Amino acid sequence: MPSKKTSPIWHPFTQHALFPEMTHIDRGEGAYLYTKDGKRLIDGISSWWVTTHGHCHPRIQKAVQDQIAKLDQVIFAGYTHDPAEAVAEGLLNMTPDGLDYVFFSDSGSTAVEVALKMALGYWHHVGSSRHKIIVMEHSYHGDTIGTMSVGERGVFNKPYDPLLFTVDSIPFPEKGSEQLTLDALEKALSADDETAALIVEPLVLGAGGMLMYPAWVLKEMHALCRKHGALFIADEVMTGWGRTGTPFACEQADVVPDIACYSKGITGGSLPLAVTLCHEKIFDAHYSEDRSKTFFHSSSYTANPVACAAAAENLRIWQDEPVQQRINFIADSHRAFLKSLDDDDRFENRRQTGTIVALDIKVKDEGYLSDIAPKLYRHFQENGILMRPLGNTVYILPPYCVTESDLNEMYDAIRSGADLV
Ligand SMILES: *Cc1c(COP(=O)(O)O)cnc(C)c1O
Repeated sequence: MPSKKTSPIWHPFTQHALFPEMTHIDRGEGAYLYTKDGKRLIDGISSWWVTTHGHCHPRIQKAVQDQIAKLDQVIFAGYTHDPAEAVAEGLLNMTPDGLDYVFFSDSGSTAVEVALKMALGYWHHVGSSRHKIIVMEHSYHGDTIGTMSVGERGVFNKPYDPLLFTVDSIPFPEKGSEQLTLDALEKALSADDETAALIVEPLVLGAGGMLMYPAWVLKEMHALCRKHGALFIADEVMTGWGRTGTPFACEQADVVPDIACYSKGITGGSLPLAVTLCHEKIFDAHYSEDRSKTFFHSSSYTANPVACAAAAENLRIWQDEPVQQRINFIADSHRAFLKSLDDDDRFENRRQTGTIVALDIKVKDEGYLSDIAPKLYRHFQENGILMRPLGNTVYILPPYCVTESDLNEMYDAIRSGADLV
């Protein structure tokens, strides 16, 4: 074992015995991060999928500065403020009818917890015994006990298994076997009338390995939930804000979820904030003069005004900057990159959805703990790139201000990285 580190900080998803040294970042600008010793890194994964328009976008910075000079924080039970109202209005303009109410929280995990509580609360208050949750294999919805319960079980949550609640699981829709997923869903839904909701990551399962499935499967899953009266929860925490090529992934399947979770890119990636949107029937089931039907959920910083100001500015940037054009440019570039690998047998499962491109490097020890991952991580960093492989899966999920030459540097680093096997 190496000697223990000197900083008292315990970092997330970090095995300190193997990675004693953290890379110290001093500032960010656009698609780049700058280390304390002056090195530039291309942020190939948008700082864990949050940064959309680039680091320190001047408009978001200004909105944050203006807001913090005016109102930093206020209790959100019984009180409201302009930035929160602007975010709620902007969200309803961007999303289809059927997502009618906006509940604020502060991270993707809490947005999902809120979604699950809304679903259970809905059925409880309308007098139904529906309480089961159906989930998809390989899903990730967060790291709290509730969100781990609806996520993939494995090395990540083994020690906590005794605390996790029971769910029904359907297989991931593998290419060519999509019907198996739909059959399993239909079977689970029709087994009894106890299902409260299905929760899925639409089109792309992020932490589960950037696994992708087509829009028609999403559409069919939604239709089955409708048919059997279960709620449909879309966890768009990662897929939202343009990652899949459209503002939200559900649009591509023409699906309006009953409950939708957004976070990560909601502030352009600048400050923590999350929302859970829902159909009015869910709000209405809680709407009563009976105080026991109150939606009992809050975090101290619910709808923090500064975070909301950043989100409101992000919504305006979507209105008046060519965001979609930048997204299309990245998608075209990824497509050409994958095509260039057609005859390269070091890679398999080449896949893309919008701005997300992923491929697996052929290794003997596939999976999250594959030996290739830490080697690739260092290789990318030595090449001036921040990318964090998911086991033997490498992926690029860039901020939308990334340039052609940035993308080419990343593509080249993936090509050379495959030789580390
Ligand atoms: C990141 C993520 C979450 C959790 O979000 P946090 O802000 O990290 O709590 C939930 N769902 C999905 C699909 C995610 O990618």
